[in-house]
Amino acid sequence: MARYRPYFTLYLGSMDKQYDLVIVGSGPAGATVGRFAAQAGLKVLIIDKRQELGAPIQCSGAVSRHALEEVGITPNAEFIQEPIYGFGIYNQIGDCTTIDYRQLKGDEYGPEKGKKPLGYVVDRRRFDRYLMTMAERAGAIVWLKTEGLGYAATGNGHCDVQMRRFNEFLTIRTRILVGADGLQSQVGKWAGLRTHIKITELASCLQYVVDQVETEGLLEIITGHEWAPGGYAWVFPKGHGYAEIGLGVIPTMTQQNAQWHLKKFMEQSFFQKRFKNARILEIQGGGVPLASPLRVQFADNLILVGDAARHVNPITGGGIHTALSGGYIAASFLIDFLQEDRDASAKNMEGYQEQWLAALGNKMWKLHGIKTKIFHNQNIVERDQQLYATMSDYFSPHSEYKKI
Ligand SMILES: Cc1cc2nc3c(=O)[nH]c(=O)nc-3n(C[C@H](O)[C@H](O)[C@H](O)COP(=O)(O)OP(=O)(O)OC[C@H]3O[C@@H](n4cnc5c(N)ncnc54)[C@H](O)[C@@H]3O)c2cc1C
Repeated sequence: MARYRPYFTLYLGSMDKQYDLVIVGSGPAGATVGRFAAQAGLKVLIIDKRQELGAPIQCSGAVSRHALEEVGITPNAEFIQEPIYGFGIYNQIGDCTTIDYRQLKGDEYGPEKGKKPLGYVVDRRRFDRYLMTMAERAGAIVWLKTEGLGYAATGNGHCDVQMRRFNEFLTIRTRILVGADGLQSQVGKWAGLRTHIKITELASCLQYVVDQVETEGLLEIITGHEWAPGGYAWVFPKGHGYAEIGLGVIPTMTQQNAQWHLKKFMEQSFFQKRFKNARILEIQGGGVPLASPLRVQFADNLILVGDAARHVNPITGGGIHTALSGGYIAASFLIDFLQEDRDASAKNMEGYQEQWLAALGNKMWKLHGIKTKIFHNQNIVERDQQLYATMSDYFSPHSEYKKI
């Protein structure tokens, strides 16, 4: 596998640092791997090319409560913008399936004392910082403004990671490199893994943070080719009287861009009166892979996690939950692996993917199959009906899949 870019040799700095794990990417996936690994006593370095955690925001921040609790994160006012109690799923003409857990399971869910929310809209800037603080307190070292540039296995159970920290080029030796570097992952490419994502499965997303739009503690999801070809539109509560209005479209299913569709949705949909006074305060966007997980998420001395491994729910596009859970699975595997002092050959790293598939990945493959079947249907009316029914079913209390 070609994974060493020769020009690095010009810049190699001193190799005076050695870690058990170097993690590229400080999003939910990287921070979670780092926290659990450091807690178990591993020597961990997390790097991120950004100079500020979580910024610029490229996420709506919807995440279920159990997704947080599952990985030991206590919901905290420091990052929560709004509690969520359920869903409103709309078809293209505005018929709504309301799944409000305050009504369905009123003794458990609600704003009253002793009850709890189903999930939250979090501020990704503050959430990512919170996760990183947890990792740092567990003992992980975090370097921002540090870009991973390449890696090469040394052949003695370690690998060298080339990076640029501020303007300095350096090489850090580690036993395992974790690629948690998001949608445009380079780490997988360095390892020669097939990370290519089909344009037909990459949603182009845009959202506005607006004021003067009423919300009621529900995540509202609007289906229909008319509003969001290949994806869906959403209205999420943002706290302090703000809302997020956004959508994701598949570029091959429309001649127009996401901005055009969002304008049309706000001005012409059954919500036009509701959005009449909305003022756009912030604009956020990014790509979301509505794809299957990578078939191979490991290589010599290396694993991928989170968006980098396409650990994204292909129906909803949600990736926070899967980044957190995937991060926990990756850390658990690596802790055992390194404590047993096993050889980090690709063959041995495969155990990570097996654990991930059993815990999470097989369900994601199943969801990808459902999504593919819907969008392969060329009959738009049928496709709209199928997506509306699937979304309504997905978020119902009877769904075999976890919420959000
Ligand atoms: C518009 C939009 C709305 C969304 N809304 C939701 C939602 O409501 N709920 C939900 O669950 N999901 C949502 N998602 C998806 C969610 O944001 C991602 O799935 C999630 O952030 C993935 O986490 P991650 O840790 O894998 O990657 P990321 O959060 O993308 O973090 C990757 C990190 O790697 C760093 N990095 C990349 N390359 C390098 C390098 N070479 N060197 C150093 N650092 C590097 C980046 O700077 C980044 O900080 C949304 C996405 C978009 C675009």
